[in-house]
Amino acid sequence: MISQWFNKSYKIHEIPTPESRGPHDILLKVAVNSLCHTDGVVSASIMGTKLPCIGSHEGAGTVVRLGSSVTAFKTGDRPLAGLPQNRCDHCPDCLRDEKYQQYCPNLAGQVGITLDGAFAEHMIVDGCESSRIPDEVSFEKVAPLACAGCTV
Ligand SMILES: [Zn+2]
Ligand SMILES: [Zn+2]
Repeated sequence: MISQWFNKSYKIHEIPTPESRGPHDILLKVAVNSLCHTDGVVSASIMGTKLPCIGSHEGAGTVVRLGSSVTAFKTGDRPLAGLPQNRCDHCPDCLRDEKYQQYCPNLAGQVGITLDGAFAEHMIVDGCESSRIPDEVSFEKVAPLACAGCTV
């Protein structure tokens, strides 16, 4: 059954600060997010999203808290959130030569599609899938790159 909440306008909710899914995760204070065509597809219930789910797979912000296995970032850094989250590192897709294993069948999910995304004050992102934003690049210019930019 399709939820009565698909194909409706977004609503603002007060929710708790999100909890980490694992040791590679980062809690971001979201600075910017953007709206992609995919958000419309998600809102139309075409992507298998289970509600409630916070939209936007294009976010960037400042690191507030780090998981114990995160080594690429420190508190205060500015990552661009990656879309796939918590790949398994042992399936055939994860073990291929490419360094971006978005097709891992064991992902925890994708931010803004099957996991809560960047239309929030805080979001959880996978430190292994996030990219460092150069100091000279503003948050406003970088957020849309979380979709196509990470692929490049
Ligand atoms: Zn995998
Ligand atoms: Zn997109």
